[in-house]
Amino acid sequence: MNARKKVEEIEKIFQRSNVEIADAEWIVCEITGYSKMCLSERQLTEAQIKKIDKVVKKRLKHIPIAQIFKKRNFYGLDLYINKNVLIPRFETEGLCELIAKELPADILGQLHGLDVGCGSGAICIVLSKLFGYKMTAVDISNKALKVAKKNAKKYNVDINYLRSNMLSEVKNYEFDFVVSNPPYILSSELKNLDKEVVGFEPKLALDGGGDGLQFYRKIIEDAPYVLKNDGYLFFEVGKGMANEVVRLMRKDFYAIKINKDLQGVDRYVFGKLKERKI
Ligand code: GLN
Repeated sequence: MNARKKVEEIEKIFQRSNVEIADAEWIVCEITGYSKMCLSERQLTEAQIKKIDKVVKKRLKHIPIAQIFKKRNFYGLDLYINKNVLIPRFETEGLCELIAKELPADILGQLHGLDVGCGSGAICIVLSKLFGYKMTAVDISNKALKVAKKNAKKYNVDINYLRSNMLSEVKNYEFDFVVSNPPYILSSELKNLDKEVVGFEPKLALDGGGDGLQFYRKIIEDAPYVLKNDGYLFFEVGKGMANEVVRLMRKDFYAIKINKDLQGVDRYVFGKLKERKI
């Protein structure tokens, strides 16, 4: 069977079941190793068709494609993913980019950052591997830390991973910057998310409490104890949350800014610490 025809067949099936159609191409390319460009010229073997059909069945159960293939590309790195971590989102690439833009380039390599709630390790691994920062990363979930460590090993980066409930285990550190993409979905909204998300991604990585802001509050309260004077705090925030996060930061931070993501949504909030607390 022709590979392009197979993609079209899967697209129709996905359309009927409300599954992302673009995944059809992805599945065929991933299993065959063919590039998107040459699908029309390629034929599929029986074995390939069997494998493809197996994956299509899983996808129809709304299992996210990143979990089926156990990987997700993030900032050009192929990260290992499983059901114990949030699947890194495209917007989060923008958070990494923002940090590299804001921090002084001349002392690159000497700056020490903390990634709070590292999940798969997406942020800390990109910041270490591609931008050269020294990174410590914490997560409350041992299962997530296992994934993050696997990814660090794959990309040969030396990250100081610690199991910690927010900043509880890093109180003796002095970081140049703290970054976090904490869970920010309102508890009451969880049930309204796509089946792919609510049915398969860890609730621990999604649920931001009653108003979605509980982890921002905690990090903003504790970051002054672990940052150097004038150290940076960088956040990714949920839609509509930026102004409230700015308001929460005002007491201890200055030069606070909001940046948009590529969709034009206020997505990143960052500022500098007035004075370290002890
Ligand atoms: N830091 C990880 C990411 O951005 C995990 C975030 C989370 O679990 N909320 O992908």
